[in-house]
Amino acid sequence: MAGDDAFPGTGPTLERAARRAAVPGPVTHGLTIDLEDWSDTQAVRLYGPHPSPPPRIQESTPLVLELLARHGVRGTFFILGRIAASRPALVRRIAAAGHRIGSHGFSHRPIGELGPAGLRRELTASRAALEDAAGMTVEAHRCPSWSLRPGTLWALPIIADCGFRVDASLSPGGTPFIGTPGVPRAPHRVRLADGRALREFPLGVGAVWPRMPFSGGFFLRTLPPAWTEACLLGFEHRGVPAVLYAHPWEFDPGTPRVRLPQPWGFMQHHGLERMTERFGALLARHRFAPLEELCAGIDWDRTAVWRAETDSRRPRSREGTAVRTG
Ligand SMILES: [Zn+2]
Repeated sequence: MAGDDAFPGTGPTLERAARRAAVPGPVTHGLTIDLEDWSDTQAVRLYGPHPSPPPRIQESTPLVLELLARHGVRGTFFILGRIAASRPALVRRIAAAGHRIGSHGFSHRPIGELGPAGLRRELTASRAALEDAAGMTVEAHRCPSWSLRPGTLWALPIIADCGFRVDASLSPGGTPFIGTPGVPRAPHRVRLADGRALREFPLGVGAVWPRMPFSGGFFLRTLPPAWTEACLLGFEHRGVPAVLYAHPWEFDPGTPRVRLPQPWGFMQHHGLERMTERFGALLARHRFAPLEELCAGIDWDRTAVWRAETDSRRPRSREGTAVRTG
């Protein structure tokens, strides 16, 4: 297959993980919500109007909570530390509905922009704000804007240092915007140089090059529903969970349509009017759970191991990112 030629080891890794039957019985996928405001996206942050129109997080979050409640589904909410610090009652409402709380960083600035010291500060502050607000231990992390990729893999030991055991930041494959070639498509262990390991739930991507993401956000709004369904069924056929993701502002009819250069405007706004219907249809047809609960059903000792050579002394270098699967 073309994808396997382009990224040796990636395809066989999924097949191997599936054969190892890491997840017994019918497949339950991971459900994740990245709790950020519409103006936190890279598109609006870089090219949007300043000052931006007012925040909508207080209005948009209940919409996604109600949708999940209608389908009896719980998930992991990756929440910005800034929102947890300023709106702790919102975090408590999410936790009270039975969802798990993870960190989406503090400010939504991408990893490469923060650098090692900034990332450490943000993750520490984010975890503290979330645990204070939710009254529960926070162990799961997803970086902003899929910014954990070649050039920023030095972040992995910092994520572990800050107390996170579960990560959902890596994307297999290689679109121009996101993706790290060689990352397995199934849940796997990311082995750090000092022997520690993170439990990784990668972004759901297609089986063939360029391994286009299918399982959330812009991709879910834009690609044909039949394609999304086929990809999810492909994961289920192999006994492997995929990870679905969305943002509250994608369900909110009140999300401002601001002027943005292309392709940013397209990625921000396209298909917003159909997100609730498409996401709801997936919730109705498939099984989902928070990542922390999926962890308990996975025999991690039998999942693939992925190693990233990291070098925090040269954070912006593309060197030191050689990878291998095993
Ligand atoms: Zn985000």
